[in-house]
Amino acid sequence: MKPGSSILMLLPVLAVLAPGAALAQNDDFASVEIVPHHVRGSVYYLEGRGGNIGVSLGDSGVVLVDSQFAPLTDRIAAAVASLSDADIRFVINTHVHGDHVGGNANLAALGVSVVAHDNVRLRLTQSGSEAAARPILTYPDTATIQLDDEVIDVIKVPPAHTDGDSYIYFRNSDVLHLGDVFRTTGYGFIDTNNGGSAAGTIEALQLAIDMAGPDTIIVPGHGVLSDASDVQEFVDVIIDVQGRVSDLIDQGMTLEQVLAAAPTADLDERWGDPERFLTGLYNSIAGGM
Ligand SMILES: [Zn+2]
Repeated sequence: MKPGSSILMLLPVLAVLAPGAALAQNDDFASVEIVPHHVRGSVYYLEGRGGNIGVSLGDSGVVLVDSQFAPLTDRIAAAVASLSDADIRFVINTHVHGDHVGGNANLAALGVSVVAHDNVRLRLTQSGSEAAARPILTYPDTATIQLDDEVIDVIKVPPAHTDGDSYIYFRNSDVLHLGDVFRTTGYGFIDTNNGGSAAGTIEALQLAIDMAGPDTIIVPGHGVLSDASDVQEFVDVIIDVQGRVSDLIDQGMTLEQVLAAAPTADLDERWGDPERFLTGLYNSIAGGM
């Protein structure tokens, strides 16, 4: 099989990704293992490729948060089956990116209801994704799923990573899934092509810190389990670099000049390649978003 052939199946969802979005586009998915991690109570997350999948287990049904990539659906379903005999009933998308919604259509074919913010459906529709991949249950602000012993709050946040970001809070387990507004694998990513915003990112991260209690476990879109202090460190870096980039924009610098000035040189050892982060920040600040 040619390396590109699995990509054809993903084209509809990849089309919504901003240029430079971190995706191993040419990799074969054959080697990907779906690894379940217990978080607390009835909540797990699945690590595979793409965004961390939240899992809430109930006697009468399982709720997932995000669906990674289409070629992984069988393995994701098998991982869920290793944890519970119950059927998957809902998948909630934290946002529109292909590494979070890629399995939607496959799950829908299994009878799973796809739930997401209005803007996720709008952007999937505008980008020409297949109808089966689109959420059939959408909300403008919040939704709550009350299934068995868990209450799951789905909360739209200000435009941050994209304009369709939701946080998912598992009330009884005290676990908060932040999608890609928060990650532990590197700098943040403000996808201005999908309505993301620097100011909104800072506002949304502050909301996460305010929502979290002392024991709340935070699941990032990418990376490892965290707490509110990790989110605080992450937002502090964004605020710091936002100031640096604003100064350079005030000096009249173009994006290319800002990147060449390496304004995050002292931070890159900790946070990695800054190009995508700086590009999003620049576009957001320069665009008044
Ligand atoms: Zn994303």
